[in-house]
Amino acid sequence: MGFIETEILNAVNALKLAGTSTTFIWIRGHFNIYGNTIADTLAKQAILLPRRELCEFPASDLNRWFKVQQMKGWDNFHSNYHAGFKYKIMFPQPSSNPWFARMPSHPKTFYRIMSRLRSGHCATKTYLLRIGRVESGMCNVCLEDEDAEHMILVCPIHRNKRRLLFEKIEEFIPRPFNLELILVTELEAVYDAVVTFIVDSEIKL
Ligand SMILES: [Zn+2]
Repeated sequence: MGFIETEILNAVNALKLAGTSTTFIWIRGHFNIYGNTIADTLAKQAILLPRRELCEFPASDLNRWFKVQQMKGWDNFHSNYHAGFKYKIMFPQPSSNPWFARMPSHPKTFYRIMSRLRSGHCATKTYLLRIGRVESGMCNVCLEDEDAEHMILVCPIHRNKRRLLFEKIEEFIPRPFNLELILVTELEAVYDAVVTFIVDSEIKL
């Protein structure tokens, strides 16, 4: 309930205490009805009054305002953060309802794998090379950079299981597939197919 509703109810209660009952009815505006003309004149005068900084209204009226301010703050932090450009391109709008909240009831592995894929922090050889943990970022099998995209969509070592993955996701994503396209869907069926493929293929991410 807002400030004006509170004022109206207070006025109605005051009238009740004075022994008068109040009935609300709809009337046509600007139709030379005496009471309505007075209300209209008062409303016009009220616009010109100085703003009341202190007025009483229920604390719950602020809930929406807080929510909006929090989202604005989060949005600002997200867009000005110094890193994660790839993530920001994929997910430009921070959501008050995060992706994992929309996909409850999965084992921990599901959230761990998808969080790593979304943030680009997978323990692939290209990543380990970047943080100085290995000497080469090449895949052992095909001498290409071993990143998550390579492991999930390209490397021939996982060819057989990949067929099943592609069958599952082609209903949702147009070919040719790429990892970003898969991640931005934020669809449970797609994420589920990817995690199943990674787990079944024993890919360590
Ligand atoms: Zn490979």
